[in-house]
Amino acid sequence: MLPTTDRLSIIVPFYNEEENVAELLREIRQACPAAEIIAVDDGSTDGTLAKLRTEPGIEVVALAYNCGQSAALYAGLHHSTGELCVMLDGDGQNDPADIPALVAALAGADVACGYRLHRQDTWNRRIASRFANKIRRAFLHDGIRDTGCSLKAMRREHVRFLVPFNGMHRFLPALLKNAGLTIVEVPVNHRPRLRGVSKYTIGGRALRGLRDLTGVSWLLTRQLRLPPGVLPVRKA
Ligand code: UDP
Ligand code: MG
Repeated sequence: MLPTTDRLSIIVPFYNEEENVAELLREIRQACPAAEIIAVDDGSTDGTLAKLRTEPGIEVVALAYNCGQSAALYAGLHHSTGELCVMLDGDGQNDPADIPALVAALAGADVACGYRLHRQDTWNRRIASRFANKIRRAFLHDGIRDTGCSLKAMRREHVRFLVPFNGMHRFLPALLKNAGLTIVEVPVNHRPRLRGVSKYTIGGRALRGLRDLTGVSWLLTRQLRLPPGVLPVRKA
């Protein structure tokens, strides 16, 4: 583990993002110089892992094969040592300059979820996302306006409330809220993807999202809800 002087861990999943690594890590360091940075290489087949290995002062978690965004985040969360964890995408669409506001919001809630004020995606992606958010809210009543925004902050001790499955990252707020945690939403910047390509198609995401929605609807009715203080807090 890296020695860290800060209580903040920043977790970033990278899958074939070789052109985005250097600039994004520079921005993260600039925004949060003392934070622990956990870069998860999700089985990339390009030069992402090699690039990550040349970056000083970060911890690299290398998954042996492509496990998916949820798995990469879950692995990163479990490798983190800070008291607070922030997650953001590795393609540069989330702005690291928003991290301090997200962390500040944790003073008033257990979880802080970014929502993208001005989406910088194609019109068909924006419509699909709006539709998906509406359906999810109607089914799960999680009250979250933009679960597709990857910029999120939470306390590391609450990682235990996550139920790992492929697609979990889209339901983080629902799972955490259902476990009894409080959530605040924070408006964040969103930027166009300048380099590399999206790892998802609209159709693929819609199909998987619908299937996951039925599973999560069930799970939320059966998720363990223990009174506070019952589970021991995991120390760094
Ligand atoms: N990602 C990952 N594993 C995957 C797919 C994606 O780690 O199997 C990462 C990807 O590198 C990026 C983030 O998840 O950092 C979001 O992916 P992407 O930008 O393609 O999603 P979109 O913005 O199109 O929703
Ligand atoms: Mg993206």
